[in-house]
Amino acid sequence: MPMPTIAHIRALTLRGGGADYHDQDAGHWIDEHISTPMARYPEYRKSRKSFGLDVLGTLVVELEASDGTVGFALTTGGDLGCWIVENHLARFVRGQKVTDIEKIWDQMFHATLHYGRKGIVLNAISGVDLALWDLLAKVRGEPVHALLGGPVRDELSFYMTGTRPDFAQQQGFIGGKLPLHHGPAEREEGLRKNLQLLADMRQKCGKDFWLMYDCWMSLDLEYATRLAKTAHEEFGLKWIEEALPPDDYWGYAELRRNVPRGMLVATGEHEATRWGFRMLLEMECCDILQPDVGWCGGITELLKISALADAHGKLVVPHGSSVYSYHFVITRHNSPFAEFLNMSPGADEIVPMFHPQLLDEPVPVNGRIPASALDRPGFGVRLNPQCRLHRPFSSDSTGAR
Ligand SMILES: [Mg+2]
Repeated sequence: MPMPTIAHIRALTLRGGGADYHDQDAGHWIDEHISTPMARYPEYRKSRKSFGLDVLGTLVVELEASDGTVGFALTTGGDLGCWIVENHLARFVRGQKVTDIEKIWDQMFHATLHYGRKGIVLNAISGVDLALWDLLAKVRGEPVHALLGGPVRDELSFYMTGTRPDFAQQQGFIGGKLPLHHGPAEREEGLRKNLQLLADMRQKCGKDFWLMYDCWMSLDLEYATRLAKTAHEEFGLKWIEEALPPDDYWGYAELRRNVPRGMLVATGEHEATRWGFRMLLEMECCDILQPDVGWCGGITELLKISALADAHGKLVVPHGSSVYSYHFVITRHNSPFAEFLNMSPGADEIVPMFHPQLLDEPVPVNGRIPASALDRPGFGVRLNPQCRLHRPFSSDSTGAR
């Protein structure tokens, strides 16, 4: 049977949660006085939306094959991502065989080197790449994880990110990761509050439950070192995440040398490609790499990052990204558990991570998802037809939606 080709590529956008999980209504924990690099400016301290964290919105990449099969993926990217896909990346996709994933990735990356390499361009490349994996797996009638070598364990186990690690514990998760609320600009009082919140949570959760702090690029080396030492020694903090800006490889290397033995340093959600992660690995910046599948270059690039990490004896625990992470994590020994980003407003209910944009998205029950829940073709999810999609640019008049 001849392999189908890609007849149409469409880039669409939509608002309201989902892949751009910062795009939430007021009062959501994700926007509640979380420490950020912008917190040095008091006027941008209280809300991350105030400095534009939610400006992008979701990018949907839809591919239609010559046999009528449709593959799609979601990432963060909005109108800007749509422009890049329709006006630049589409030429490398349209007319190619659905199996040409490696070649398409290579062409998209090298054709955008003069303005890409990281950030929104890599989000767009990731979106196309994930849609290609979804399409190929659907053409073959298999789940994506089967194309990656198949599951190495029977279930995924999860830690939960949100303001309620005590709820995560009640729900059977292996740990809870708190957002840090106060940065260096809030000085000693802020540091005390950060430690107090952790102390309270440790008391609620008992001594063995994993507790972590996500610092969202907001600290400096001195502050991060002090926080890490006290938080680990007094309250058993398991890891400190993304303590420093992503370009400060030197700072991460020193932080990792500074933290107490047995404590882990995690980072990488805003890093991209095998070359970015090679820096983190060779400079000994961290113990856990956290690529976001929708931002780092997609599954094609994640496989390379993961192989590099494995050879360095490091774990790869992808940032958020729902089914796009799950199909990878289930196939890799150096990815022993997954993140569940709790997107309910109070972090006290289990809702699908990409709600409301996807249908059939599996959620952890007792902190776990069985491998069998990932057995539908492709990534096993559908776009919710209730969500209003918008196609701001069209490079394919015959494929207009
Ligand atoms: Mg994080």
